[in-house]
Amino acid sequence: IIEVTNLSKSYGELDVLKQMSFQVEKNDVVAVIGPSGSGKSTMLRSLVHLEQINGGTIRVAGEVLVQDGSYSKPNEIKRIMSKMGMVFQHFNLFPHLTVRENLELAPKIVKGESTAEVRKRCLELLDKVGLSSRASEYPAKLSGGQKQRVAIARALMMNPDILLFDEPTSALDPELTGEVLQVMKRLAEEHMTMIVVTHEMGFAREVANRVMFMDKGEIVEAGPPEQLFTNPQFDRTKAFLNLGL
Ligand code: ATP
Ligand code: MG
Repeated sequence: IIEVTNLSKSYGELDVLKQMSFQVEKNDVVAVIGPSGSGKSTMLRSLVHLEQINGGTIRVAGEVLVQDGSYSKPNEIKRIMSKMGMVFQHFNLFPHLTVRENLELAPKIVKGESTAEVRKRCLELLDKVGLSSRASEYPAKLSGGQKQRVAIARALMMNPDILLFDEPTSALDPELTGEVLQVMKRLAEEHMTMIVVTHEMGFAREVANRVMFMDKGEIVEAGPPEQLFTNPQFDRTKAFLNLGL
């Protein structure tokens, strides 16, 4: 469903992503691991067009976002973006909107869906993440784990084909990570396609069907978790996993 070929991205002199190529199939749960500064966030942000890449090709569900460094037309980009949902480390909820308004905003504005339709899905999704009773609260009243579950429900409101997560639990107190990982695990069981940048090795091992290890803007190694965690092929992978990060 995602096809990346020779993706390169630099900030001035700094080559952050070096000719990265990978594919994500429908129903895949891909965990992306790697040291700080290896380009994990930049890679995700490039997929959702929050970063402009310098070269390479990105296809989403068969449609070209960018080919050999040239981007498709704005309305095509918009259509492709609507296939992807993104969940950030710091939730990025709208603080002046209630939980319900956070969920309902994009489908109404972007897709022009009816209030009734949107309300129905909002209630279903809040129920799914265990927050039905908090629909009228403002984000400030919620714990970090609750905020992140709202952010996941909000991303699901657009019925994306794929969800991207950038360290969804690393801003949370340890006792709150479990409730978020649980929601993500359930999505995986329902065959949601996901790319998850994470430091949660337990999650990567248990829930992902593929793990991708990045270092210095490259994919060093990728494979099923059993293989990558128990029998890594490269010294850089071994060194990273031994640090227990
Ligand atoms: P972390 O695990 O700390 O989140 P990461 O793997 O997500 O790291 P990125 O945030 O993608 O890494 O950053 C990759 C490199 O690009 C780093 O060296 C970073 O300093 C640099 N970088 C990221 N964003 C910018 C920017 N807007 N301008 C200049 N350099 C940037
Ligand atoms: Mg990052």
